[in-house]
Amino acid sequence: MRGNADHETTGLYPVPADWAARAHVDEGAYNIMYETSVTAPEAFWLHHGQCIDWFKPFTKVKNTSFAPDNVSIRWFEDGTTNVSYNCIDRHLATRGDQVAIIWESDDPGHDIKITYRQLHTHVTKWANVLKSQGVARGDRVTIYLPMIPEAAYAMLACTRIGAVHSVVFGGFSSDALADRIAGAASSVVVTVDEGLRGGRKVPLKANVDVAANKLAGVVTSVIVVKRTGGDVAMTVGRDRYYDELAASVPDDCPPEEMGAEDPLFILYTSGSTGKPKGVLHTTGGYLVYAAMTHQYVFDYHDGDIYWCTADVGWVTGHSYIVYGPLANGATTLMFEGIPTYPTISRFWDVVDKHKVNTFYTAPTAIRSLMGAGEEPVKRTKRKSLRLLGSVGEPINPEAWEWYHRVVGDRRCPIVDTWWQTETGGILITPLPGATKLKPGSATRPFFGVRPEIVDAEGKVLEGATEGNLVIAESWPGQMRTVYGDHKRFEETYFATYPNKYFTGDGCRRDADGYYWITGRVDDVINVSGHRMGTAEVESALVAHPSVSEAAVVGYPHDIKGQGIYAYVTLMTGEKSSDALSKELVAHVRKEIGPIASPDLIQFAPGLPKTRSGKIMRRILRKIAEDEYGGLGDTSTLADPAVIDDLIANRQNKR
Ligand code: ATP
Ligand code: MG
Repeated sequence: MRGNADHETTGLYPVPADWAARAHVDEGAYNIMYETSVTAPEAFWLHHGQCIDWFKPFTKVKNTSFAPDNVSIRWFEDGTTNVSYNCIDRHLATRGDQVAIIWESDDPGHDIKITYRQLHTHVTKWANVLKSQGVARGDRVTIYLPMIPEAAYAMLACTRIGAVHSVVFGGFSSDALADRIAGAASSVVVTVDEGLRGGRKVPLKANVDVAANKLAGVVTSVIVVKRTGGDVAMTVGRDRYYDELAASVPDDCPPEEMGAEDPLFILYTSGSTGKPKGVLHTTGGYLVYAAMTHQYVFDYHDGDIYWCTADVGWVTGHSYIVYGPLANGATTLMFEGIPTYPTISRFWDVVDKHKVNTFYTAPTAIRSLMGAGEEPVKRTKRKSLRLLGSVGEPINPEAWEWYHRVVGDRRCPIVDTWWQTETGGILITPLPGATKLKPGSATRPFFGVRPEIVDAEGKVLEGATEGNLVIAESWPGQMRTVYGDHKRFEETYFATYPNKYFTGDGCRRDADGYYWITGRVDDVINVSGHRMGTAEVESALVAHPSVSEAAVVGYPHDIKGQGIYAYVTLMTGEKSSDALSKELVAHVRKEIGPIASPDLIQFAPGLPKTRSGKIMRRILRKIAEDEYGGLGDTSTLADPAVIDDLIANRQNKR
């Protein structure tokens, strides 16, 4: 009955020969390394823990407990190190003049290349500016910046002096920002006069003013970077321009010696499922895991030009724009703009301009670019591309195939990387030189990761099966606590299935041992006793040529228990009609089976998304259930206006 069955057998993409030849690990090596990593984790991580430099080497590798009321996660605990030292100083002797960051501005005519030596100068200055504002070891600093190099400087400067950063995505409102400043009790906020995206100015400083005024007495210092030079209000005694502060501090700042388990950063989850959680990561394990996954998953080699399109306000930006690549001495591209400005070819123009080899983005971006057809892609060369990546949501096979064929010219493997803010780095993923690919599957676990699929009672299911995804053992990049609320940490992740980390995601494992994320567990629907992941029905809908995006939720149905309610966004130029609605139902029946036929289809010009571009199905579920009162926390919604349209055009239950 499964819609992906044909992909499982016929849709296998072998490892290209050039990849098998060049990669750090081939299939055989993966199997051996994986086996060692789970049977002898101490020895495995003793060895791989050396991928970063330690001031004082660790002697203890791992000390972890998933016991529901006593969760404690410690890695490399007696070692000391410094994150900015690993991301900058240790490269100076060998690659001081190599470009560390390519910054591509919103304006296609402007970019900046920052070498490792220049990065060192910027970060030490920044560190001293933070100190001049009273920031000391352990203090929290809120960073509310757009995608400008200063975001990386400020993050690295915090790590240099042992301060804990909390980056808040620049697209968040002043209310969301205030919640996060208060949550982290951070007295220093770093921001910009205005951001620039798609040619439009974004008033970040003004948002900080609203947030800081709301939190009387909490924020004592606001450091303002000049981006547009726009006129902004400056509160005397609280707000200072970075340039002025930098003029009067020394250049040099030696890195603090930090314990492996000292807090590194707080980051709030995207808020797809509820109130965002302040995820806390620590120093040593996080950096080892970010660096190692960046090296193996993107098969990073010296000289590669690497581009992750995420925002630094999300964990993907933390681990795979800043910390992983810089720890490995890579050249990482940071893009200020949006995929559609000044034209819808922008991503591919940037790839050609900077000769990007590895390109890592989200399914939401791919699906929206797909909606505009192949021509905007095909008019660019993309000859430098070698590897493509996807993260953030399940990538439906249709979008996967398009990404592979149109963007990658059938030449580039795709790494579909499954992970979470909580996991610090990638947990389930192909390795490009080792793993045969199946469109829509995140494939196999990374080294040291032990995924299990359990039923509702927690019974471990073997072989080809479907259920809830848990992780049976700790890995170094795992979050250590919910900031200030260890109980919430234990209850959210360890109470459901004792002694396992519960991911909240549904998952299927096929006969080859490949993992397929079926969506959030809450989004698994039960139609007449059949469990079904909403991702599969969505994949089938999106495979129809008229459909650009689809979101599927369950709603109470008198006969079936749950019915299937589908929200469908059409391709540019397509018109909604009853006939099309019927055609889509027939299409899903054919692709998956009668059990998956949508009961109701609502055509929607826009879907509610988080600011990281994920569909918020919990809101769609409420609308389908006819319960507008309980829409829950909508503070992380990108465009609240879509809700009114969805409610106005709600389909009636049958
Ligand atoms: P919140 O936890 O606040 O609801 P969130 O889960 O969206 O927000 P993130 O940590 O950014 O916050 O996202 C992690 C989730 O994204 C995963 O649990 C999974 O549902 C989804 N996800 C990420 N990558 C993939 C992938 N490659 N395939 C399928 N799903 C993915
Ligand atoms: Mg989550």
